[in-house]
Amino acid sequence: MEELHFICDCCGTPYPVDTQLWRCTDPACLGNFLLKGGPRFDPGKIRQDDFSLWRYRDLLPLPTGTKPVSLGEGGTPLISHSPADDLVLYKLEFMAPTGSFKDRGFTTLVSGLAAQGVQQAVEDSSGNAAASFAAYAARGGLKARVFAPASASPAKLAQVRIYGAALELVPGSREMTTEAAHAAVAAGARYASHVHHPFMMVGLRTFAWEIWEQMGKKMPDAIVCPVGQGGLLLGAYEGALALREAGLIDRLPRIFGVQTAACDPMVRAFEEGEETAAPLPPPGPQPTRAEGIRIAAPMRSRMVLRVARETGGAILRVPEEAILEAQKSLALQGLFVEPTSAVVMAARPAIRAILGLEAQILLALTGSGLKSGAPV
Ligand SMILES: [Zn+2]
Repeated sequence: MEELHFICDCCGTPYPVDTQLWRCTDPACLGNFLLKGGPRFDPGKIRQDDFSLWRYRDLLPLPTGTKPVSLGEGGTPLISHSPADDLVLYKLEFMAPTGSFKDRGFTTLVSGLAAQGVQQAVEDSSGNAAASFAAYAARGGLKARVFAPASASPAKLAQVRIYGAALELVPGSREMTTEAAHAAVAAGARYASHVHHPFMMVGLRTFAWEIWEQMGKKMPDAIVCPVGQGGLLLGAYEGALALREAGLIDRLPRIFGVQTAACDPMVRAFEEGEETAAPLPPPGPQPTRAEGIRIAAPMRSRMVLRVARETGGAILRVPEEAILEAQKSLALQGLFVEPTSAVVMAARPAIRAILGLEAQILLALTGSGLKSGAPV
């Protein structure tokens, strides 16, 4: 087994897994870290007596001696649109301990950091990631410091506080919140970033593995995720890739990302054939219900765009006006998700137009509606 290490996704420079750095230090590059090494996927190593995502613990590339800091995350339901229609599937990621898919990543990130002896760390987020980090830090005995925009959803901020994290509200844009976190990291804090730390992606891979198990050892034709920074989309890809490398599936699912027209830097880059997404030009992002994907300057666009193209997927935009209708239409099936998650439902007609009527499509329902308040 190849030893665990990070490499820069841009220039390939290797870094140790316990580095204090969070991205490539070459000023001409500043690329993101990817995790290399670790075990190959082997279905014989799935722990059949564990129904959390730690059933895959022997397949997760984490430091030696890592003990799960777990709230029983993973094992989210996979249901079909209706008993008569299994061409649309929903993966209920909002049924996670803190109400969002982010728990898959923070259970492995916090566990990995704890194994490295880290006792305090910082994170920046507009909501779900902050709440998830705060919960897992509480569970693992880590001191958590969270930077969040002052404009973030009050329910999400209340959640961060009650988990006991030190919350620092930053006025202004989402990007200014990130800058405040970067300043804390430059002053010596460990960065438990859901965007940058590869241990986050380790847990997100299990999204794909669960789908493969729940569908009877196969994958749908397409997987559709909301895209802000692209964490779940990349996790789905890395997980599916591990299955293909192990010879368990013949081809990767086509991977689609969805943004709102109010904030669509990845869509613009996809349409224009660019390798990376430029920050949205002035006047910048417009107001949107989909606050969780209001990322004007995405950090990992190179990988996200590559995955969409390589798998035959796409990055699509939906009109802002379509989001509320999509949220209601899911609710009328008993599924109360936050507006950010509803973009995948709004994108369904566009994806059908690309894939045809016979394709089996899985929509990731990423966050709970209970945190975003009643739709108005
Ligand atoms: Zn580099």
